[in-house]
Order: sequence, then C-alpha cells, then structure tokens
Amino acid sequence: MNLLNNKTIIVTGASKGIGLEMVKLFVEAGATVIACSRSGKSIDDSKVKNITLDVSNYDDCYIKLQEILTEYKVIDGLVCNAGITKDMMTYKMDEASFDSVIDINLKGVFNVVKNIGPFMEKQGHGSIVNISSIVGEYGNIGQCNYAASKAGIIGMSKSWAKEFSRKGTQVRVNAICPGYIMTDMLKTVPEELLNKFKDLTMLKRLGEPQEVANVAMFLLSDLSSYVTGSVLDVNGGMRL
Ligand code: NAP
Repeated sequence: MNLLNNKTIIVTGASKGIGLEMVKLFVEAGATVIACSRSGKSIDDSKVKNITLDVSNYDDCYIKLQEILTEYKVIDGLVCNAGITKDMMTYKMDEASFDSVIDINLKGVFNVVKNIGPFMEKQGHGSIVNISSIVGEYGNIGQCNYAASKAGIIGMSKSWAKEFSRKGTQVRVNAICPGYIMTDMLKTVPEELLNKFKDLTMLKRLGEPQEVANVAMFLLSDLSSYVTGSVLDVNGGMRL
C-alpha cells in the first residue's frame, strides 16, 4: 500500500538514525522527500532532494525553506526530527551545553514550523509530526536540557494543532515520544544502563528506527485524518 503516494514531505535530521529510516520508508511509500541535515546527506534517489540545513539557524531555515516552498508549491507533510543530546548532571552543565540543546531541539522546531505551518494553513491541508521523547514526558537524570527541549516540543505541538486549524483548515500537528531507539544517539549510553532501560519496557527490548518511522508514516498519511493534537508513545510500554 503506497500510503504516501503523491505527497511531498520534509524531514529534518535526515542524515542518519530515525530520520534516515524515515526518508527510506517514505520514498518506498510513494512520497517525494526533502531531506534536511547539516551534512546534507541521506540517500541518492530521484525522489529525494538532499539539502543542508542547520535547524538552529533562523535565517538558514527562512532562506532554504522559502526556496523549497517556491520550488515545490505544495508541502503535505513535515517531520521535525533533528535533535542532539549533551547529557550531564546539572552541577556540571555549562551554559553552552544547555543552550545548544535548546537551540537545536526546541528552537530548531520553531524555526522550521514557522515557515511551513502558516504555509500549510494557506494551502488548506498538511500534517506536521514533531519528534519529542519519553524524556520530555517523564524527565531523566542528567538530561535536564534535553527534557526541557522535548517537553517544550509537546507544548508547541499542541499549540500549533489549535492555531493552524483555527479557521477549519485540515492542518494536523502531532508529537511522537520515542523510548530508547537503537541509533548513534545511544552510543554514549553505557550498556548496563541500556539493559536497565530494556527491563523497564513491557516488550523487554529497545526500539528500532523503523518502528518510529512507521508511526510517523501513519501520522503523515490520510489514515490518521482525524488525529491531531495528540502525543503518541513509541516506547515498548516503557515508564521511566
Ligand atoms: P541521530 O542518529 O544522532 O541523528 C540525529 C540527526 O539530527 C542527524 O541526521 C543529524 O544530522 C541531525 N541534526 C543534528 N543537529 C542538527 C541541526 N542543527 N540541524 C539539522 N540537523 C541536525 O539521532 P536519532 O536517534 O536518530 O534521533 C532523531 C530524533 O529522535 C531526535 O530528535 C532525538 O532527540 C529523538 N529521539 C531519539 C531517541 C533515541 O533513543 N534514539 C529517543 C527519543 C527521541 P547532521 O549531524 O548531519 O546534521
């Protein structure tokens, strides 16, 4: 089933991990994908346009995304997926480590949605999926910066779900909260801790990037046409 046939979708943080998996899956499902990351690399495919974009840079987002809007005319979906961690106990956390996580994970989502959300409102339809985290819901030791950024994404998503549909336009905004997913982001987490996280899930395992991409695909597709303002957990039944 080509769930995303004829849809044009922007994905940020598309060079690896969950974002890269989304690019592959969405293309298989029939979409044209604009794949954004600082390196500007994802897959080589006639249906993928790779662009360099630093989501934390307001002007870069304005210039590059306005160019995309002019070129493609219609944008059906957006996934704000770019994100980083800079984990440390609060007593050790310097200002730069706090600010960089907020700038990329939280303000980065604003910088992108500011260009795409109002455009979708004008075109009359669209689906925005913002990637939050289980840590944004429950908090976590050593991640106050990351937790703040991811909790903020939930608040922004719920606000935009109301704002972009207030005149009856079919613009939907949802957030996904992944649990622990096997990507480079977990490289620095000690194995002992990863095993503890597995035990905290009902399914007794960590997640795969495609398991998050599948849920994003559902939210971008017309199958979820009555789903908006929601926060979907993709965490194997984990509670932190
Ligand atoms: P990842 O493998 O480290 O990939 C992160 C992606 O974000 C890369 O493509 C990176 O590409 C991009 N990126 C980083 N800074 C950027 C910037 N300033 N501008 C544009 N792109 C930027 O991480 P992941 O695990 O796939 O994470 C994807 C999302 O899921 C993140 O928002 C993360 O917080 C969230 N998440 C992950 C987990 C997990 O366990 N893995 C759990 C919950 C939530 P470049 O370096 O090329 O720019």
